[in-house]
Amino acid sequence: MTREDWHNRAASLLIDGRGLIDGKRVASLSEETFASISPIDGRLLTDVALMGAQDVDLAVASARRTFEAGVWSGRAPAERKAVLRRLADLIRAHRDELALLETLDMGKPISDSTSIDVRATSNCFDWYGEAIDKIYDEVAPTAANTLALVTKEPLGVVAAVVPWNFPMLMAAWKVAPALAMGNSVVLKPAEQSSLTALRLGELALEAGVPPGVFNVVTGLGPEVGRALGLHMDIDGLFFTGSTQVGKYFMEYAAQSNLKKIGLELGGKSPNIILKSYRDTAHAAQTSARSAFFNQGEMCTCPSRLIVERAVHDEVVEVLTKTAAEFVPGDPLDPATTMGALVDHRHTERVLGFVDTAREDGADLRLGGTRERAETGGCYVAPTIFDNVRNEMRVAQQEIFGPMLSVIPVDSVDEAIKVANDSCYGLASAVWTDDLSTAHHVSRGIRAGLVYVNCYDCDDMTVPFGGFKQSGIGRDKSLHALDKYAELKTTWIALGR
Ligand code: NAP
Ligand code: MG
Repeated sequence: MTREDWHNRAASLLIDGRGLIDGKRVASLSEETFASISPIDGRLLTDVALMGAQDVDLAVASARRTFEAGVWSGRAPAERKAVLRRLADLIRAHRDELALLETLDMGKPISDSTSIDVRATSNCFDWYGEAIDKIYDEVAPTAANTLALVTKEPLGVVAAVVPWNFPMLMAAWKVAPALAMGNSVVLKPAEQSSLTALRLGELALEAGVPPGVFNVVTGLGPEVGRALGLHMDIDGLFFTGSTQVGKYFMEYAAQSNLKKIGLELGGKSPNIILKSYRDTAHAAQTSARSAFFNQGEMCTCPSRLIVERAVHDEVVEVLTKTAAEFVPGDPLDPATTMGALVDHRHTERVLGFVDTAREDGADLRLGGTRERAETGGCYVAPTIFDNVRNEMRVAQQEIFGPMLSVIPVDSVDEAIKVANDSCYGLASAVWTDDLSTAHHVSRGIRAGLVYVNCYDCDDMTVPFGGFKQSGIGRDKSLHALDKYAELKTTWIALGR
């Protein structure tokens, strides 16, 4: 499709902003709505249901009712598999519509929405669907006159609260394993990106997920998110978002029913380029592409580039050249590589880091400017700060925009020290051809992901998540299924 095709399609799109409770699209009880504004050009996309605690009660009640009735939780794993795989097929069949909604709603380039977000989301439902009828429980090696069964049971009612940077995919990473395990689910998308979550809920119904098993509640974090966090009848709450809000969910759980909490939080990922890597230019190129991908709105964004002084100048030169591949443009143009940031408030916050960096003594090498202001949209040029010291605010705080800090160091051990000097521990990378250095650094870094001579490798088969204040627990892979399950031990006496 061409740019014109996408624009025409966008103009004729009918968007339903009502929530999804008990299998029905519903307005909020208060009948209030909030505006879903596109960051592409500031246009109103639709009004979305502004739900509150009472709507949450209805969604949770419907999830509880279906869970207890066993309409999903009681189905054979192979039957749940068939439904989840049908959902994956439906997501593929609705690729263009879903990609368009994602791009209009949060501003990422349409070619990324189609080739990455929609593809990875359908793959995620396929993968957990395929997995669930191949997992066995355990019989423990107890004495001969006893039998001890260790079985996994669904938690019950599971809530998922997700951010806006990969709206559909972050939802899928939680909803797919939760449903596969047999739970009933209530999903709350971010205020800035409700639209694909609502369509996902409808497609799930079409695929055969029984009404009430997968509910979507829309609204604001401090209302709907908080009501989910404090709810007495939710068994587990799984969150992706900022570290600050992640901490609230720990508090909500403590103040209510000690629901199980899973947290995928922020990052300030260190990316170490050493002189012992043979191809400095390749390392720098990959680093820039990973830093500016998705407008830098990535929890794994390699935002701290720690570079050995011997290769510093070459790295900065290549970074600057590669950044030129990322020109903020019309997100509906398939040729665009960099889209809009999610909204004006976030854009102001991101741009504020230009002054912060200057005040702290960093050198602005590239960008730092707002772009395409005439469109009414939210665009920021790829930005590079050089000669950053790790204690500066641009190196300590998550920016979540297209801004990269270059931190020169003098040795491998200094690089590790700087890498670990952060409250976060999500992703990290090291570039070296020296095998023992690669192991030394990857063991030394406190992070959930370490890339050696690459960045942002991705597959459903591997766990994803962070150390330290980047979170608790892991998404993806078979390990994630454990989050949505309770372990039950059943003793059976065999002796007479
Ligand atoms: P956020 O502000 O923490 O919001 C995330 C979700 O929490 C949204 O649905 C939000 O709802 C809700 N929320 C906000 N305030 C709340 C409150 N007081 N109580 C309950 N819920 C509340 O994060 P974001 O700005 O959407 O996303 C960016 C963050 O996500 C970054 O820190 C990024 O690193 C992180 N992230 C992490 C991963 C990972 O896997 N580790 C992946 C992607 C993103 P509203 O939108 O309605 O306010
Ligand atoms: Mg929006």
